Amino acid sequence: MRLLFLGPPGSGKGTQAKIISEKYGIPHISTGDILRDAIKNGTPVGQRAKNYVESGGLVPDDVIVDIIHERLSHSDAGPGFILDGFPRTSAQALALFGVMCQLKTTIQMVIRFDCPDEVVIERICGRRICPVCNTSYHIKHKPPKNDGFCDKKDGAALIQRDDDTETTIHRRLDKYYNALESIQTHFSDILFEVNACQSEEEVTKTIEEHWNGNR
Ligand code: AMP
Repeated sequence: MRLLFLGPPGSGKGTQAKIISEKYGIPHISTGDILRDAIKNGTPVGQRAKNYVESGGLVPDDVIVDIIHERLSHSDAGPGFILDGFPRTSAQALALFGVMCQLKTTIQMVIRFDCPDEVVIERICGRRICPVCNTSYHIKHKPPKNDGFCDKKDGAALIQRDDDTETTIHRRLDKYYNALESIQTHFSDILFEVNACQSEEEVTKTIEEHWNGNR
């Protein structure tokens, strides 16, 4: 199962990628998560990416493509993977085909998560994340059982991402919609749209139906 999820921030790509990766035993590869880890650990990639990530800009293509190439070369990605947050530019999409060629593999299905701006803005502003397991919560729509702490066994204190602010979200949405057309033309024959305003369960079900009906 080699999937790619496209969608604006807050459309639920990460949540669905986590659900499907656990269910099917394939890695969830999120360039945003990889960059946040690199920033936290102060690696050279993290130092280069920090300002872009915090301001809602795009990290340069060469940095991202190296990250993806390296990550997809790991043996755990052999049986399949879910790419979340990559590609974000047409150049990244083209580079992905190069990487796929080198690894002698292909992307089988691209899911585009569609969700109006007002919904994603509300989701992003109320989003809280577990810094240990990356589980995502919402202060109103998906609160943790124990206020401010992750439900999973790590029980870590939840945080709000530095870039989950109303100012930054507008910039991130602009970047997404400006690049969308040029990215999706590369995948038009394997592209499926999902109404990402549905419940988590309905979105998962729709993705699985697409997958089972189109393999
Ligand atoms: P995300 O967690 O996918 O919302 O990504 C958070 C931030 O990481 C983005 O706003 C960008 O600054 C950066 N980022 C993640 N993926 C990419 C990418 N494919 N290309 C450029 N920047 C990225």
